[in-house]
Amino acid sequence: MKIADIDTIAVLGAGTMGHGIAEVAAIAGFDVTFRDIEEAFVQDGIEQIEWSLDKLVEHERLDREEADAARDRITPTVDLEAAVRDADYVIEAVPERLDVKRDVYEAVSEYALTETIFASNTSSLPITSLAEATDRPEKFCGMHFFNPPVRMELVEVIAGDHTAEETLEATEELARAFGKTPVRVRKDTPGFIVNRIAIPLMNEAAWLVHGDEATIESVDSTAKFDIGLPMGAFELADLVGLDVSLDVLEFIHEELGDAYEPCPLLGEKVAAEELGQKTNVGFYDYDNGGAEIPANEGSEEVEETLLAVMANETAKLVAAEVSPVTEIDRAVELGLGFPDGPAALADTYGVDALVSRLEQRQAEVDHPRYGVAESLVDVAERGGFHGTHKEKETAAFDDLRIERPHEHVATIVLDRPHRLNAITPTMLDELPTAIERLEQDADTRVILLRGEGDRAFSVGADISGMSSVWGDSRDAVALSRQGQAAFGRLEETDFLVIAAIDGYCLGGGMELATAADLRIASSRSTFGQTELNLGLIPGWGGTQRLSRLIGEGRAKEVIFTADHYDAEDLRDYGFVNRLVEGDDLVAEAEAWAAELATGPPIAQGYVKQVMHGGRGDNDAGLELEAFAFGQLTQTDDLMEGVTAFLEDREPEFEGV
Ligand code: NAD
Repeated sequence: MKIADIDTIAVLGAGTMGHGIAEVAAIAGFDVTFRDIEEAFVQDGIEQIEWSLDKLVEHERLDREEADAARDRITPTVDLEAAVRDADYVIEAVPERLDVKRDVYEAVSEYALTETIFASNTSSLPITSLAEATDRPEKFCGMHFFNPPVRMELVEVIAGDHTAEETLEATEELARAFGKTPVRVRKDTPGFIVNRIAIPLMNEAAWLVHGDEATIESVDSTAKFDIGLPMGAFELADLVGLDVSLDVLEFIHEELGDAYEPCPLLGEKVAAEELGQKTNVGFYDYDNGGAEIPANEGSEEVEETLLAVMANETAKLVAAEVSPVTEIDRAVELGLGFPDGPAALADTYGVDALVSRLEQRQAEVDHPRYGVAESLVDVAERGGFHGTHKEKETAAFDDLRIERPHEHVATIVLDRPHRLNAITPTMLDELPTAIERLEQDADTRVILLRGEGDRAFSVGADISGMSSVWGDSRDAVALSRQGQAAFGRLEETDFLVIAAIDGYCLGGGMELATAADLRIASSRSTFGQTELNLGLIPGWGGTQRLSRLIGEGRAKEVIFTADHYDAEDLRDYGFVNRLVEGDDLVAEAEAWAAELATGPPIAQGYVKQVMHGGRGDNDAGLELEAFAFGQLTQTDDLMEGVTAFLEDREPEFEGV
């Protein structure tokens, strides 16, 4: 199922989330069938959608015709068969009970088309168990919206153990079609990403108050005014609902152990039916002023403890390969409105200090929630989630920067946004040095290459900065050779290299992208080998590499016309491997790089060397292939790949 095949969406459940999801889908232009178990519930949902559409018109987010058209695309029903029989995609938002959801899936399996994808909006139930209640576990995933769906930009797309890659990709595309930002949750782990950070945060806040170590006001003052979160931890708990938070926490506790033991304070509140805003009383009294948080009652100890707990969870999520750290930060920023994600907050504070804080708390309080994750200690040793590599690796560069969005991915950023990342001789010097440095680092497996800013990958050679070269043909030959060698380094390295292109990719910039192994581009990008317009030819390997990549006929067309091409044309030419709609190029590229970084590094390196070595000499290529094939039989990675295949699990390659 591809996004282009999705016309009709069935939304099951017309409550808080169901009505919001149906509204979002209808605004995005999909036909929606909208089902609940009783007429009155469906009608209620429709009234809420109409109210919300009116608000959007009032705030000029939609015009009247668009709102009416969205309403007309929604067909309410109580008949399950009618709701799902023509649906291309089913989103379930019925109550958070495994038995209720499983019953729904059994019935839906019976009526739905075989190719239809099912997604659950569950906040915490295991996607794998839900999938197993259907007749299509590979076409099942989590699609976790945030409340209210009309306003909240984040959608967590959760892989169950059986979910096919195609299902996840279609779901991510659907989320984008809804105008949302999907973040993939790669493992079916309790709490997914956002709740796995938020719920332990609330629990820790409650433990601090329960142990008389802080007051509700001082904890929330710290969270809001010292850490800079949009609201206090108790205020957040009241908003989410203490019953809902406790349910999720109990589930995490059950699955992941005593580090997540719920603080008794939460249970006491739930037993007293003080559930937060929805009952007008929770930790705060909403009949009497609600959450009035003092601005100056924060404490350094509380700040360090809350940051430490979030950093610990983040490190655990990264170590379990639930998601790369940049995506965890982004999910939390979008899902909870944090100014920075938990990893960035920890880096700013200092991960070392947070580890010490956890150790100190463990010694004082002796509770497993303060157990320091080994992976957090590693992060501290590296100097931070995002930090060290960046500082260490960028130290010597002027026109480049190195980022590390994922443990195994290093990004080389062309860092001259004021000049649309035009390529300088300095950059040509620095590029091979950067690659060499990454080759000495055992963590790197994939290199991403991108331009700073959203206007250009690179507009090519910085001609104005190369004036000395134009007077002497020998200098110009040397410059051409320098660029050929620098870009050639991308081919020589065993790392897989991906060019991530957003905006202009012209002249030498396009030659640089051509030297990468793969290319991912935003649909707004513009390409061109424009050298002939200046009376030059591509001089940094473009005449050779482009032909090999897209064929001589097309390469000649691109070079002779010196025209601008849009990304879609070059996708059709086979130059662009992946096209990204919207503004998410960097995140998409990082996610793709992280995914490719799970592959076997030694075999990936051989693929490059064998393919490049065989160019123009088939026999030599075959000889290299046989040699590489033989060498790979001696690797642990081969053993791991075969064992994982037999055990029906994902392999974990070590590159040895
Ligand atoms: P809700 O109680 O407001 O709505 C659930 C609706 O499902 C009710 O109208 C109920 O009548 C209906 N229903 C029950 N059985 C049904 C069936 N067999 N077929 C169709 N409809 C049926 O609940 P909600 O807050 O919208 O939550 C729905 C799901 O979304 C839950 O899994 C929840 O965990 C999840 N979720 C909730 C939030 C939130 O903030 N409320 C946020 C994210 C995810």
